[in-house]
Amino acid sequence: MPKALIAGNWKMNGDIATARELAGAIAAGSDAHACDYLVCPPFTALTEVSGVLADSGVLLGAQDCHSAASGAHTGDVSVGMLTDIGCHYVIVGHSERRSDHGESNALVKSKAAAALKGGLSVIICVGESESERESGTALATVERQVVGSLPETSNSTNTVIAYEPVWAIGTGKVPTTAQISEMHLHISSVLENEMSDSDAASTRLLYGGSVNPENATEILRCSRVNGALVGGASLKAESFLAIGQSCP
Ligand code: PEP
Repeated sequence: MPKALIAGNWKMNGDIATARELAGAIAAGSDAHACDYLVCPPFTALTEVSGVLADSGVLLGAQDCHSAASGAHTGDVSVGMLTDIGCHYVIVGHSERRSDHGESNALVKSKAAAALKGGLSVIICVGESESERESGTALATVERQVVGSLPETSNSTNTVIAYEPVWAIGTGKVPTTAQISEMHLHISSVLENEMSDSDAASTRLLYGGSVNPENATEILRCSRVNGALVGGASLKAESFLAIGQSCP
């Protein structure tokens, strides 16, 4: 079993002072647990949080990147800019990027490939909509997203897949443990066609969508769940660390 990863996606929340305080509390409370911690603050707080986390063992990630190394891309941030300020990871293909910015699997793949080339690890997000779940096409949708978004250079040390059903993000609704296990086992078998057997078996698969300290224990015990991508509950150190403490 790969070591669990508990990743916090702070989204577009907080100012520098709150980011500093939150990162400091996570760094102070994190070292006793049997999982890796990653925090992904907004771009504006990355430099500050990088300083706070230095030598803490808590990893730093960004929430998006551009696929080009530099150039005329107003408002975007390159992989080199992220490694320059100490990032280890970048999230790509979050459902809010796919819906707010129309990001396709091909675009997500190009961002992931650029991130890997530039030395970042990636969390590639996939997940079905509510109507896809209800119409019985969830497995096929997620399979298409995994196959379409995964770069050829992905392996188990540089790539994490986060299964985040769109209807569970920020809603308090959570799939059943049977649905989570079914999807994670499906993703694992899809990876067997895309990677070597050993990489497919040891690539970490995170569940994301309304994870909190109350439901974390049962979610983190589902088949082939190797951690969580946490939104709302990552904005308080206490709840984020409590999710980490729930890792089996
Ligand atoms: C997310 O946006 O990645 C997420 C999982 O959010 P929440 O935990 O708030 O559902």
